[in-house]
Amino acid sequence: MERVGFIGLGNMGRPMAANIRRRQFPMTVFDLAPGPVAALTELGAESAPDAGTVARASDVVITMLPGPREVSSTVLGPVLENARPGALVLDMSTVDPETTDALAKACAERGLGFVDAPVGRLAAHAERGESLFMVGGSDADVARARPLLEAMGSTIHHCGGPGAGTRTKLVNNYLAILLCQMNAEALSLATAFGLDLSKTLEVLHGTTATNGQLAVNWPNKVLKGDTKPGFAIDLAHKDLSLILQAANTARVPLPMAAAGREAFTAARARGMGGQDFSSMLDAQCAAAGVAPPRLPS
Ligand code: NAD
Repeated sequence: MERVGFIGLGNMGRPMAANIRRRQFPMTVFDLAPGPVAALTELGAESAPDAGTVARASDVVITMLPGPREVSSTVLGPVLENARPGALVLDMSTVDPETTDALAKACAERGLGFVDAPVGRLAAHAERGESLFMVGGSDADVARARPLLEAMGSTIHHCGGPGAGTRTKLVNNYLAILLCQMNAEALSLATAFGLDLSKTLEVLHGTTATNGQLAVNWPNKVLKGDTKPGFAIDLAHKDLSLILQAANTARVPLPMAAAGREAFTAARARGMGGQDFSSMLDAQCAAAGVAPPRLPS
């Protein structure tokens, strides 16, 4: 069995490390806080005084740290300075692509393996070993990391080469986080309208309002190149205008709706008003200067 080092035992790292340890992997851990280190030593892990000691003791070094600053100063410093020959670095923190690319390059220059595997889902899932991982790395490095990922989670997506995990995570969190604001705007409007919450939720769960657009509609429309209107951008723009007007009357600010309506205005100005509203993808890709993505037919 590979010797595992685990650095960063916070809300996510502590349960993830515990689940690896429960599979009997020999483990050395380090965190600035003593509490979670004690929780792991109770499960039979060794405690190390610093990250360099973890690296010296480990075949696979896992980092689950707050962000780019902590990850860079830990991996590009003490971990790589003390890594065993042929070791694998597995960074599971949420960081930016530049940081991940720098780690991957530094590991490759030293002949070390590197996998980025940021985590989807929440701390409660991590406790139950039901995390989802967005994984970037070579086939060989990902195969080496897989037994550890399987100990920590229930869903493993190999997204591409090094850096693909981090990039997928940012795309995922963009939607997950902004949908919180859109949910908040929608439910505040429902409240201002005096609607029954349970009934409103029942309706929202039965339509594409709960992002069935991405789950159901888009794979059959714009992502297949079908921009014929089921529901046209012109009509969506009209509805957003009605919503903003009604919300303003009710004194409910809807910042996402205002920004979104202007994106629809821009699409109409491009002559796309008659296309299906999923074609907002094509309008956005034109603004971004990238080719609109399509699913293989
Ligand atoms: P956290 O703040 O609970 O834990 C971070 C841990 O790292 C702490 O125990 C802290 O003491 C330790 N630490 C900080 N700097 C250190 C250093 N230099 N050396 C050693 N230990 C150090 O954070 P978390 O919620 O466990 O999140 C970890 C990462 O996972 C973040 O990048 C976060 O964005 C991501 N993430 C979190 C969640 C979540 O629901 N909490 C979900 C998915 C991804």
